[in-house]
Amino acid sequence: MTTQANTQGAVPTVKLLIGGEFVESKTTQWRDIVNPATQEVLARVPFATAEEMDAAVASAKQAFKTWKKTPIGARARIFLKYQQLIRENMKELAAILTAEQGKTLPDAEGDVFRGLEVVEHAANIGTLQMGEMANNVANGVDTYTLMQPIGVCAGITPFNFPAMIPLWMFPMAIACGNTFVLKPSEQDPMVTMRLVELAIEAGIPAGVLNVIHGGVDAVNLICDHPDIKAVSFVGSTKVGTHVYNRATQNGKRAQCMMGAKNHAIVMPDAPREQTLNNLLGASFGAAGQRCMALPVVIMVGEAREWLPELIEKAKTLKINAGVESGTDIGPVVSCSALERINGLIGKGVAEGASLDLDGRNPQVAGYNKGNFVGPTVFSGVTAEMTIYKEEIFGPVLCVMEAKDLDAAIDIVNANPNGNGTAIFTRSGAAARHFQEEIDVGQVGINVPIPVPVPLFSFSGSRGSKLGDLGPYGKQVILFYTQAKTITQRWLDESEVGHVNTTISLK
Ligand code: NAD
Repeated sequence: MTTQANTQGAVPTVKLLIGGEFVESKTTQWRDIVNPATQEVLARVPFATAEEMDAAVASAKQAFKTWKKTPIGARARIFLKYQQLIRENMKELAAILTAEQGKTLPDAEGDVFRGLEVVEHAANIGTLQMGEMANNVANGVDTYTLMQPIGVCAGITPFNFPAMIPLWMFPMAIACGNTFVLKPSEQDPMVTMRLVELAIEAGIPAGVLNVIHGGVDAVNLICDHPDIKAVSFVGSTKVGTHVYNRATQNGKRAQCMMGAKNHAIVMPDAPREQTLNNLLGASFGAAGQRCMALPVVIMVGEAREWLPELIEKAKTLKINAGVESGTDIGPVVSCSALERINGLIGKGVAEGASLDLDGRNPQVAGYNKGNFVGPTVFSGVTAEMTIYKEEIFGPVLCVMEAKDLDAAIDIVNANPNGNGTAIFTRSGAAARHFQEEIDVGQVGINVPIPVPVPLFSFSGSRGSKLGDLGPYGKQVILFYTQAKTITQRWLDESEVGHVNTTISLK
C-alpha cells in the first residue's frame, strides 16, 4: 500500500514513487490529510526534498531510453489491463476519495469513471499516434511524419478531481512513449496514489511513472528542471499562469487548464422542470467545487419568474457527509475553503446583492465539525460585484437577468473566463445563434456540464486556459509527441547507375 502507518505506528504516511519503488520521504516537512466531514487526520503527506525530486526526474529520464522503444501494442496492453483494474477497484477508490475530498460516493465514482474513460482511450494509442504520409510529392519523393515521444513529462493536479485529473495526464503521456513525474494535490493525494499503485500493477515499468509530493517548491522544480520537456497543469488561474510563464520561459511545452466562472442562459421557452433540476445539479453538486459547475445563471425575460421555484428546490437538497446515502451536498474540502466561501457570501451581502437563500452554518447531525455550507442563492447580481468576479468554488449561485438572448451573450462574452457555458431552450434557432456567437470553449445545449468525452479534447478557452492544446483526445497526442517529418527519395537503379552500390557492397 502507498499509504502505510509509519514505524511509530502513528498516522499513516503517503509514499513517493521513485524508480518503481514506493518510498518513505526523508523530509521534515509534512502536511495532514484531513477528512472534511469529520476533521479526522487520515494520513500525512510529505513535501519531498530536492534530492528526492531530482531522483524522480532522473529515474524518468533513464526509463525513457527503453520505454520510448517499447512497441505500441505492448504499451496499449498495459492500459487495457489498467482499465480492468480500475473497474475492479471502483468502490475502494471511491471510498478513499470521499474520505479525503468530501464529495458524495456516487460523485466519487463519477470522478474515477471520467478518468477511466481516458485510460480506455489510452489503450487505443495504436490508431491515435499514427503519422501521415503523402506519396510521390515530387519525382520519386515521399513525405511522412513520425509522432515521437518527447521525453520526461510532468503533471500538477488540483484537489477537486483527484482521480479524474491525474488520469487525464499520465496515461496519455505514457501511452505515447513518454515517462512521467506526477505531483498530486497535497490536499487529497491518497486516491491518486491508489490509482498509481494499480498502474504499476497493470505493468507500467519501473521509472516510467514517478510521483513526488509537495507544494510551491515541487511545482517550481518541475517548471525549472532541464530534463522535463512538457508540463500539464490543472488548477487555479493564479498558479496556472505562474506555471505557464515559468515553464515556457524555460523552453518547455505547457498546457494549463485554470479557473472558471461558467454561465447558464435560461430562455423562457426552456422546459421548466428539467431546466431547474439541471441548474440545481450543476450549481450545487460536488458542493460547487467543479471547474465546469454553473455558478451564474442568466434568466432571460420571463424566465426570471422561475427564481422562487429554483430557491424552493434548492432548499430540498440534503447536506450531509459524502458517505451518507441520499446526500446531495457534501462538505467543502477544507476549513480555509469554508472560511473563504462564507467570507465571499458576506461580501455579496455588503455589496448589495439580494441573499435569497443563505447556506451558511447549516446544522448537520453527527458531523458538527464538518466544513459544510448549504445551497446559497443571490439575485440582483451585477458584473461589478466580487461574488461575480471571483471564482467562489462553493455551492453559491449568482442569478442575473437579461432582456434577450443577445444581452445574455454579451454578459458571458464580457467575462474573462471561457471554460464552459450552457443554454436551455426549445428553440433550435436560439441554440444555434448561441453556439455561433458565444466566446467560450465548451458549450452545452440543454446540457448543463458539457465536459467532452475523451474522443474529443477538453477545450476551455480565454482566461481559463493557457497553451494551445488541451488534455486528452487528439490534441493531447500532439502535446505529448514531436512530429518529425521525413522526406525521402529512393532512386531507381537506372538513375543510380551501378557505381555507389557496387562499391559499398564489396
Ligand atoms: P491550486 O491552483 O491551488 O492548486 C493546483 C496545484 O498547484 C496543486 O498541486 C498545488 O499544490 C499547486 N499550488 C498551489 N499553490 C501554489 C503556488 N502558490 N505555487 C505553486 N504551486 C501551487 O488549485 P486547487 O485549489 O487545488 O483547485 C481548484 C482550482 O482548479 C479552481 O480554480 C478550478 O477552477 C481549477 N480547476 C480547473 C479545471 C479545468 O479544467 N479548467 C479543472 C479542475 C479544477
